[in-house]
Parts: sequence; C-alpha cells; structure tokens
Amino acid sequence: MKISEIFYSLQGEGWLVGVPSVFVRTSGCNLRCTWCDTPYTSWEPDGRTMSIPEITSEVTKYNASHVVITGGEPMIAEGICDLTQSLATRGMHITIETAGTVNIPVACDLMSISPKLSNSTPRERDSGRWAAQHERLRYQPAVLRRLIQDHPYQLKFVITAPEDLEEIRRIASEIHASADRIVLMPEGTDPCALREKSQWLAEMCKDSGYRFTPRLHVDLWGNRRGV
Ligand code: SF4
Repeated sequence: MKISEIFYSLQGEGWLVGVPSVFVRTSGCNLRCTWCDTPYTSWEPDGRTMSIPEITSEVTKYNASHVVITGGEPMIAEGICDLTQSLATRGMHITIETAGTVNIPVACDLMSISPKLSNSTPRERDSGRWAAQHERLRYQPAVLRRLIQDHPYQLKFVITAPEDLEEIRRIASEIHASADRIVLMPEGTDPCALREKSQWLAEMCKDSGYRFTPRLHVDLWGNRRGV
C-alpha cells in the first residue's frame, strides 16, 4: 500500500481529541478539495509502498492503544481491509478518517466521516479541471447511510462560513444522522485564522447544539507534517 507517513502524535480533532495515537496516512484520494490540508496525498501525492506486516510493525513499535488511519482517502487504498484486520487482531482501537464516498468491509471502532460540502469544490484551482469530478463524487448519501449503520461514527464537517450550516442540516436529515454525532470544525491551517473562525463557530455550535472540535495539532505545532 502507498503510505505517505506514519507518526505518533495526539488525535487533534473530534471525539477522541487529545488521545495519543499512531497515525497511518495513506497516499491517494478520489477528491480534490480546494482547501485540502494534505495536498501531498491528493493534489501531488507522494509516499512509498509498504507491506501490511511492515506497516503493522511500524505502528506497534510505539506501544499505543489507538491508531488513526487517514489520508488521502484510506478507503480506496489497496490492502486497507487487511491492514485493519491486522491491527484489530493486535487489540488496537482503530479510527478511520474518510470523506465517506466509498464503503468496504474494514475493521473499525470509530468511522470518522467528513462529508465534503460545496465549499470544497475546486472551481478555480488547477484551472478548475478537477471541479466536475469532485462535484460528482463528494456527496454519496447511500454510502453515508451505510457507513453510519455499520459502524460507531462521528460526522465531522469542515466549516468555512456560517452559511455552511444549512447544507449540514440538509445532509443530516437525508442520511438520518443523529445530531449528537455531528462535529463542526473550523477550516484552516493557520493558528490565527483558526482562532478567528473558532469565535463565530463556537456561537454557531451553541445555537445549533452541534459539537465543536478544535484542531489541536495546529494549535500546538502549526501547519507541519508528521504531527
Ligand atoms: S478528501 Fe481529504 S485528502 Fe482528499 S482532497 Fe479532500 S481534504 Fe484532501
């Protein structure tokens, strides 16, 4: 499988924020979000091929109880089902971070689904050549319904503007998601910009009842790889 990076850090987002976790970042994505914070797995994918035993050995050397498989889009990574089985047999708690466009039979303790809103479509970037594919693929309600039926889940939405709330409410209704599983996260990789967005997003969460999540790793270490 093509792996961009493996590192030990704290989970920075969502329900398990602050939990020491090993991160396995697969390379390759079927989407091209305009604000993608890991372009080295999507717009310009890098990485090296590793076998399942190699990845498992690298993950278990940290002696952590939690592993986060992220991307890119890990649900399209070749060998993902075998990797999750390998980690599950070692008793690890597995979070998969996905955009929720693909469903395959993985072993997973928390399906962390981040459906991409219309704010993600790259209308300008790279002369807009990815816009049509991205727009066609980014929202798959049948897949989302299946994922939230089959796994413990959170729905983590990346928020760029207050207007995003209406789209989130529509999606939640269409896929029959539970409101207490919805988490709103400010978009951005600059700590100052994140702080500014967090102010109005916190008020939005108080009004809507949806949970707020910070981006702890950005607050602690800024916009860097491997943290
Ligand atoms: S789904 Fe994730 S990895 Fe893929 S382009 Fe969007 S933000 Fe980047």
